[in-house]
Amino acid sequence: MEYLCSLCGKTVQGDAVEFINHTETHIIDEIKANHPEWEEKDGVCRKCVEYFRRQLKGEE
Ligand SMILES: [Zn+2]
Repeated sequence: MEYLCSLCGKTVQGDAVEFINHTETHIIDEIKANHPEWEEKDGVCRKCVEYFRRQLKGEE
């Protein structure tokens, strides 16, 4: 199954999609700050999750 990542606009395979856990609300907040239309249930492709995880680590 293919999935369209609403953050980067790329189509990825379904197994490359992550749904962010509630323990990572700081990532959810960061994504929403950049993409107000995005919702957790939309999921994110692995590349985007890694990107935002790196962003947050870099700032701390
Ligand atoms: Zn993406």
